[in-house]
Amino acid sequence: MIPQSFQYESPGSLAEAISMLQQYGEDAKILSGGHSLIPMMKLRFATPEYLIDINNIPGLSYIREENGVLKIGGLTREAELEHSDLLKQHFPIFADVTKLIADPQVRNMGTIGGNLAHGDAANDHPAVMMALHATVVATGPEGEREIPIDEFFYGFYMTALQHGDILTEIRIPMPPPGTGSAYHKMERKVGDYATAGVAVQITIGDDGVVTAAGIGLTNVNPVPLRAARSEQALIGKPLTEASINEAALYASEDCNPSSDLRGSEEYKRSIVATLVKRMIHQAVNRANNS
Ligand code: FAD
Repeated sequence: MIPQSFQYESPGSLAEAISMLQQYGEDAKILSGGHSLIPMMKLRFATPEYLIDINNIPGLSYIREENGVLKIGGLTREAELEHSDLLKQHFPIFADVTKLIADPQVRNMGTIGGNLAHGDAANDHPAVMMALHATVVATGPEGEREIPIDEFFYGFYMTALQHGDILTEIRIPMPPPGTGSAYHKMERKVGDYATAGVAVQITIGDDGVVTAAGIGLTNVNPVPLRAARSEQALIGKPLTEASINEAALYASEDCNPSSDLRGSEEYKRSIVATLVKRMIHQAVNRANNS
């Protein structure tokens, strides 16, 4: 199918884009990489009358560290995340996740802002953002506001972004020494969405005690899910096989996968348990070598 006809706009500044979003109201949609929106338009699941293309707005694509905070512009492409030296050094989880998103063509266009704003529990960045305790910055007519990632996803394809908001930045605390991170998803074939995916970031003190843990799950719940009980099973004690097994069990119990073409509910719960164990081990190996 082809999309319904629409008016295309290409604002040259954030202020102009926000003003257009206000002017056109609910009939307008933001276009970033287009790799979720255009397929939905072709299927006529989305029928915007106005497309506000933000690709020509300068200053929305960057990866930098400022005062202990990693800042990523909303329009930063997957390919840039994949090859960033800053991310490779401090957040190996980004190289893990980007390599698993679709194929190079999609990654050359798809943006981290679009990936989160789409609000799809099958997308891979939401779980990673949960593991990293990210904050999303939305810029709208009233200026900027910060939204903690735990308050960002609240329904099926629904986020805390209000009409007129543009997701302009993601902020992530720089990890202290002794931190490692990892992401993996089980997929039916290369480039597929996750059957189940697990993101982990863990910090271990000099005495071997876990001081911080973040665990996010992909595509095993109607909305992206933090495995909060699993995190608590690790924090404040030395890491042992028993505590790792407990974290894995809790994550498999607390998710809500549905049976579908990617597998049964039971199968997906068992993948979650296996991946939680593997990703904790992987993150700890990286923490030890950091
Ligand atoms: P767009 O498609 O431009 O927009 C998506 C939605 O977000 C729209 O509603 C749009 O209005 C809104 N939006 C976009 N940017 C902003 C913004 N800055 N502020 C506010 N709202 C905004 N993703 C995965 O995570 N894992 C996969 O394995 C995967 N496989 C894929 C396979 C294929 C074949 C394809 C085509 C896509 C796949 N994707 C996958 C999705 C891909 O990562 C998309 O690029 C991503 O979901 C959306 O990013 P985008 O920049 O393309 O956003």
